[in-house]
Amino acid sequence: MPRPVFRFAPSPNGRLHLGHALSALLNAEAARRTGGRFLLRIEDIDPSRAIEAHVAGVLNDVAWLGLAWEQPVHRQSEHMAAYREAFTRLKAAGLVYPCFATRGEITAAVATKSDWPCDPDGAPLYPGLWRGAAPGAVAAAHAAIGAPAWRLDMTKALAALASGPLSWTETGAGLHETIAADCAAWGDVVLLRKEVPTSYHLSVVVDDARQGITHVVRGRDLYHATSVHVLLQRLLGLPSPLYHHHRLILGPDGRKLSKSRGSESLHTLRTAGATPDDVRRLVNWAPDRDLALLSLPS
Ligand code: GLU
Repeated sequence: MPRPVFRFAPSPNGRLHLGHALSALLNAEAARRTGGRFLLRIEDIDPSRAIEAHVAGVLNDVAWLGLAWEQPVHRQSEHMAAYREAFTRLKAAGLVYPCFATRGEITAAVATKSDWPCDPDGAPLYPGLWRGAAPGAVAAAHAAIGAPAWRLDMTKALAALASGPLSWTETGAGLHETIAADCAAWGDVVLLRKEVPTSYHLSVVVDDARQGITHVVRGRDLYHATSVHVLLQRLLGLPSPLYHHHRLILGPDGRKLSKSRGSESLHTLRTAGATPDDVRRLVNWAPDRDLALLSLPS
C-alpha cells in the first residue's frame, strides 16, 4: 500500500486564521497517524494577491503551530506550464470556448430573467453568452478586447464522459459515502482567467495529481467544488483522491472566517501571547472525532 499523501494548500492573500489552522492541523495529524506524508502547497496563481510577505507569513504560521512539511514547498506560480498543458488537452478535445464577457455583462444578461439560478458559490450561473459564438465574432472581440477567459462547455464535457456516473468518496462530517457529482450546478466554469492563465479548479486538480495526493482534507466550503474537480480528473485521465471536508470555524457573527473580512489571524493571536495549544483549544481540537471516518489503510 503506498504511503498516504496529504496537503495543506492555502492561498497567500493574507495571514492564516483559525480555519486554516484546523485544516493544517488535521492534515498533519492524519499524516502522522498513517505514517503518511504532509505537503504544503502555496496557491499563488493570482499575482495581484500573492504577496511575498504573505507567503513568508504562511510558512511562519504553520511552523509556529509546530508542523513540519516536506521540502520543497510547491508554489503554483512556478507550475503554469503544467496547467497550460492540461488546458491544451481540453481545448484539443473541443471542450472549452473563449468568453469575452465582463462580470457586469453577465449580471446584466440575467437581471431580466426571474429566478435565474446561482452556482453553489452564489454567483449567477453563466448564461452562455459566448457559447457557440461564430469564429468571426470571436476574432473581432479578440482584436477589440484582448485575451478572453476560457470556459468549460459543461454540456459537452458531461457528454464526453466515457464511463459511469461521476462521484467521489467523502469521509467528512460524519459521512462515509459515495457522493454523486452535480456538475451542472456550476454551469460553464472558467478554466483560464483573463488575467491568469489558469484557475483554482484547473490548478488544484493538476497539482493534486502531480503531487500524488491520496487524501484531500479541506474545509466544508469546498465540498461543492469537488464536483468540478472529479469531472476534470475524469476528462484529463487523472486519479481521484479521497475527500474529507471538515467543519468550518465560524466567527462571532456565525459566518465562516475570512481574511478579507478581517477575521483575527494566527499572527494577531500569537502577538497577543497565545500558544499553539491555545489555538487547538480555540478550534475545539478533537482529531478522533474530526478524522473518525477518514479512509485510511489499516
Ligand atoms: N487554496 C484554497 C484556499 O485557501 C484551498 C484549496 C483546496 O484545499 O483545495 O481556500
